[in-house]
Order: sequence, then structure tokens, then C-alpha cells
Amino acid sequence: MLHAVGQSLILFLKGANVMDCRSRFHIQLIFAFVFSSLLPGFVGNVSADAPMAKIQAPGFYRLMLGQFEITALNDGFADLDVKLMHNAPETEIQDLLAQKFTGISTVSTSVNAYLLNTGSKLILIDTGMGVTMGPKFGHLTKNLGAAGYRPDQIDYVLLSHMHRDHIGGLLDAAGKPVFPNAVIMVSEAESQYWLSAAEAEKASPDKQKSFKLASDVAAAYTAQGKWKTFAGGELFPGIKASVMPGHTPGHTIFEVSSDGQTLVVLGDTVHFMAVQFTRPDVFVDFDADSAKAVAVRQDLFKRLAESKEMAAGMHLPFPGIGRVLARESGGYTWVPVEFSQTQR
Ligand SMILES: [Zn+2]
Repeated sequence: MLHAVGQSLILFLKGANVMDCRSRFHIQLIFAFVFSSLLPGFVGNVSADAPMAKIQAPGFYRLMLGQFEITALNDGFADLDVKLMHNAPETEIQDLLAQKFTGISTVSTSVNAYLLNTGSKLILIDTGMGVTMGPKFGHLTKNLGAAGYRPDQIDYVLLSHMHRDHIGGLLDAAGKPVFPNAVIMVSEAESQYWLSAAEAEKASPDKQKSFKLASDVAAAYTAQGKWKTFAGGELFPGIKASVMPGHTPGHTIFEVSSDGQTLVVLGDTVHFMAVQFTRPDVFVDFDADSAKAVAVRQDLFKRLAESKEMAAGMHLPFPGIGRVLARESGGYTWVPVEFSQTQR
């Protein structure tokens, strides 16, 4: 190899002044070949012999909204069966899933919660599955820690609704409150429904487990005088609750505003990003009242597309924060936020 380098140099020196373009090109080729052959020798052993790390970055994402600090927290991922969706031909649903390169039989779906630091209060919106659905979930408290907070610092937990993937994180494996100093706030309609013995009795055996969890959670916090309900309206300066039944009887949207910026926390207004923005009329089995759930989704998407306010969804791809754009051909598109640094 070194002999080839020497020969090339001699050739170059001898012919430097008289060389035609073709000769110069040949010499360039020789140099390229020689140095590409030698390069690994110069930089040492480049084989990837380190073990793969195989761990992901912590599941939190932070941005500022005016004076408020918003932290998205991931609790885990659910594989949702696409057959949960209704109201559109299967071929169209498959097409929309393929366009977003998601799974076509199940879609890995993030379970998100949102922490608001208003400067004087720490307010968590929803709590994920917690320990109620196995080791794929229950990462919220770990991610809260990675984000710089402890569960005992949370002042309030606001609930969008009382499905397992939103209230499961309120209790630990021993049935004790995970957020010992927090007041839990939920809409009156939602609390009444899930704590109703009559409704629980009417439910299927599977759904009865959800009623049991709801009553266990409420009992644990009620025992400490920390289970409160609201009808709607401004709960704290800059934080407004709007009860929009459909997904559940008291499903609630939270509008968070500071310095003229607004984030609308959508709860479970949307489950399948790939399908329901284009077809907001597609509903899922989890929607208790499908007609109302569709109407709420259409109204909110229209408002968000017009106002360009930011939105956050508990089952949108993590961190689940972005904006909604109207498509000329009808329906909407989800535009997620891009990673950025926070101001210090
Ligand atoms: Zn949910």
C-alpha cells in the first residue's frame, strides 16, 4: 500500500506541469483509493464492539407557555386494536394508517399526562395507568422524577375523566395515594357516574373492574378530604375546565392560558392520530356516547384549526402536543411540536 502511495507521489511530482486533465483525474482516483484504504488504520479500530444501550431517553418533554411551565409525562404505551374504530370503511381506515406508517392491526399508543407549574402551584392533569395494567405502564412517577419533581410536591390532580388509563396512577400497589398532598379534582358528572352503585351493577363484568378501581381511588382520597368535584369554569387563574360529555359522561377539557398563549388539554378527544384527524367522525368503542364524542371532536378541531392554539392529547404520539390544521380536502392534520430547548 505504501509503495502505491510513493508511486503516486512520484507520478504527481514528475507530471505536475505537463499533466493533461485525464492524467490528473487518474491520480486523484489513485489518491482516493489509497487514503480510503488507509483511513481505518489512522482512526483505530472502528468496529462497534460496545454493547447496545437499548434504553430510551426519559419520558418527559418540557415547554413554556407564557409564565407556565408545561411538562408532558409518558406513563407507557398501549397496543390499540384498529377494530376499535367505527364509522368509516375498513379500506379507508387501512389507507390512513398506512399513510402514517403506523401498525395496521394494532397501533402503539402513548398514555400521556401533563404537569403544569404555574409558579405557585404544581398541577398534574391525569395520572396514567399506574400499576393497574402490568409493567408496560406505570412509568409516570419515574418520568416525573427525571423531570425534576416528586409526587409529594403535587398540589392538585385534575382528571379529564375516570377511565383506568387516567386514574390508575393515583394509587400504588398497596392501594395508597401516590400523591399524598394532592387534592384530586374531577367533574361532578364524571364522579357521580363512576361512583354510582346502580351504574356499576348494570355494567359488564369487565367494566365492573373499572367501577371498582374508580371507587377505590375515590375512597382513598376522600378519606383524607381530598376528593373534590367541579361543574366547570375557571378552577385556578389561567386554568379553565369545560365539561364535554361524549367519551364519558363527564369528560373534561382543560384550557391553560398564560400571557396570551393557550394550551387546550384534550383528554381523550382523540385516540387514533392517523385516522381521526382526517376523519373526526370515526369513533371508538371506548366512546360512551359516540354521537356526542364525534360532535365534541369536530367542534374542538374546528376551533383549534381557526385559533391555532396549541393542543395536548392523552393518546397522541408523545409528547402529544401540537396544533391542528384544516385540510383543503376536508378534515384536519395534526402538526406536532418539534424538540426545542427551554429558556433558562
Ligand atoms: Zn384514555
